[in-house]
Formats: sequence, C-alpha cells, structure tokens
Amino acid sequence: MRPLELHIATSLPDALEYLAHYGEETAVLAGGTDLIIRIRSGREVPPRVLDISRLSELRVIREEPPGGPGAASVLRLGALVTHSGAVESPQTRTHVPLLAEACATIGSPQIRNLGTLGGNCVTASRAGDSLPALMALDAEMVLLSLAGERRVKMAEFFTGPRTTARRRDELLGHILVPARTPDERSCYLKLSQRKALAISVVSVAFRLRMDAKAPRRCNQAAIALGNLAPTVIRARAVEEAVAGRELDEATIARAAEAALSEVSPRDDVRASAEYRRAMVQALVRRGLKRLADPAAAGRLGLGRAEQ
Ligand SMILES: Cc1cc2nc3c(=O)[nH]c(=O)nc-3n(C[C@H](O)[C@H](O)[C@H](O)COP(=O)(O)OP(=O)(O)OC[C@H]3O[C@@H](n4cnc5c(N)ncnc54)[C@H](O)[C@@H]3O)c2cc1C
Repeated sequence: MRPLELHIATSLPDALEYLAHYGEETAVLAGGTDLIIRIRSGREVPPRVLDISRLSELRVIREEPPGGPGAASVLRLGALVTHSGAVESPQTRTHVPLLAEACATIGSPQIRNLGTLGGNCVTASRAGDSLPALMALDAEMVLLSLAGERRVKMAEFFTGPRTTARRRDELLGHILVPARTPDERSCYLKLSQRKALAISVVSVAFRLRMDAKAPRRCNQAAIALGNLAPTVIRARAVEEAVAGRELDEATIARAAEAALSEVSPRDDVRASAEYRRAMVQALVRRGLKRLADPAAAGRLGLGRAEQ
C-alpha cells in the first residue's frame, strides 16, 4: 500500500487552504464510515487525506430567520452533524422531522454516532438515507472554498452515481433546510432486508402541504425516491398526481402508478429491478395513506424501517 499523507485541519481556513493546494489528490475525512472502508478495500487510494473532524464550526445546528417575506425560517446544519445528532436535536425534530426520521434508519447506533450528514451527501450513494429526505425538503448545499461560498440546490447536487457538483477545492460546509410549516405532513419509508444495519432496497421521502380547510386535500407535494435510479431523484409525476387533490383511493392509486414512469431501478444483490418496481408502488400507496390521516400531522415515526 502506498504511504498516504494525513493532514488534520486545525481550522476552517486551514482546511480550505489545504484543498486549494492539494484538492485534486485529497480525500476529505469526516466520520470515516465510508471513506476508511473504501481505502482499506483498495477501491479508493488517495495520496492525501484531509481530516476535518475537529472543525467544531461545522457541527452547528441553528435556526435562521427567513430569507424574505412569506418565506419559512431555515435550519442550518453543519456538514459534521452526525446522524445521531440530527435524530436527537430538538431543533431538527421540531423543524425538519423528516430528516430526523430518515437519519434514525441509518446503520446502527455506532454508525449513526460517527457518520455525518456531509459524508452521506458527498458519498452520493443512490441508497443514502438522508438524501431523499433532504431532496424532498428542498435543501441547499453550501460549498466553501478560498474563493468564497457557493450554494447548490439538492436537486442539482448529484451529477451521477457517486458524483456531485462539488469541486475538488471545495468543502461541503453546511446544509440549509427550510423549516416545517404548520400545514406540512411528512414521513420517510425505507424498505430493507433487516430492521437495522441494512442498506435500503427502496426508500421514499414524502413532504406534503395539506389544505387547512379540507384535511385530506394535498395542496403541494415534494416526494423523493432512493435506490430507484442512478441517483436519488424527485418523483415529479407522483407529485403532480397528488397536488391539488383529495388523497382518496383513486388519487393514491394513480400516484402509485405514476411512480413507475420515473424509475429505472437495477438488479443487485439486495433485490431485482422488478421487485423494486413493485415496492415503490407499495411504499407510495402506504405513505400517502398514512399522510392522508390528519392525525399524521407532526407525528414523528422515528426509525420505523419498512419490511
Ligand atoms: C456498517 C455500515 C452501515 C451503514 N448503513 C448505512 C445506512 O443504513 N444508510 C446510509 O445512508 N448509509 C449507511 N452507511 C454509510 C455511511 O455510514 C454514511 O454514508 C455516512 O453518512 C458517511 O459519513 P462519514 O462522515 O462517515 O463520511 P466519510 O466516510 O468521512 O466520507 C464519505 C465521503 O464524503 C466525503 N466527505 C465527507 N465529508 C465531507 C465534507 N464536509 N466536504 C467534502 N467532502 C466530504 C469524503 O471525502 C468521502 O468521499 C453505512 C456504513 C457502514 C460502514
């Protein structure tokens, strides 16, 4: 094995300076739950590793005022917020319960204590669990470099399997997520082979804005799918099938059918493409039925992986 140079960043400017010089040949190390495995298995052999795990400024969870009139407030999450941190934070649970719910399904307590939101996003696996939630939440990625700050919408962040819009001289610094509005209902459904320590076979994140006067009527929908295409994707056809409609049996059936028009799943060791097609319909039906119930508003079903 080639020797690898490790630089432990002592501050954010130090990290950005290092990436400006050596970004092309550097792998960033956060919790290491993906990267260390890839290095040990020889799938990734970076000449340099930049350890950012001590940068406390990237561990913040902070509510920020709305950007303009009528806009929702925003939750700023540092890239080093761990999955446990997201699950346990009262701010995340209150303002972005969908993200807390998705993070609760990741790995095991040990993995959730080490693995970070930033690492999950930059790994960009089609099966990453925080990604459908962040996509349905219309999150924005804040990329930092010596040149300044650049924001990329989550829907444009993934450029292909395991590739992102991040430049090699950039660090993912923060994730900005609009806070939940009172009319919002959300849930994350993950189908996997076991209840814990299992990568998703199919996952769906739902965020619906419901009508205050007609509690089963959906005004707006944001729905994202995991492990059903080369990257996590927004399910635009499903969203259109439910927006402005009563969530009755007919609408839900149409929405489940619409899901098939946007997925391009593959066969792998966990499931066949055919099984994934059947399961996305089942999860879309199940999620919409659950959210049609007004009692679902604000309910946080943490860690309820579907089987
Ligand atoms: C046993 C096991 C079970 C798992 N189960 C799940 C699961 O159920 N669901 C799931 O989604 N994932 C799962 N994972 C994958 C992994 O834990 C997550 O993807 C985790 O969030 C990665 O975060 P990390 O901090 O450990 O990233 P690292 O391993 O440190 O980094 C991952 C990648 O992101 C880059 N990176 C990290 N942070 C930044 C940053 N701030 N800026 C720029 N680049 C950065 C690294 O260079 C690397 O390419 C599992 C892993 C293991 C080992």
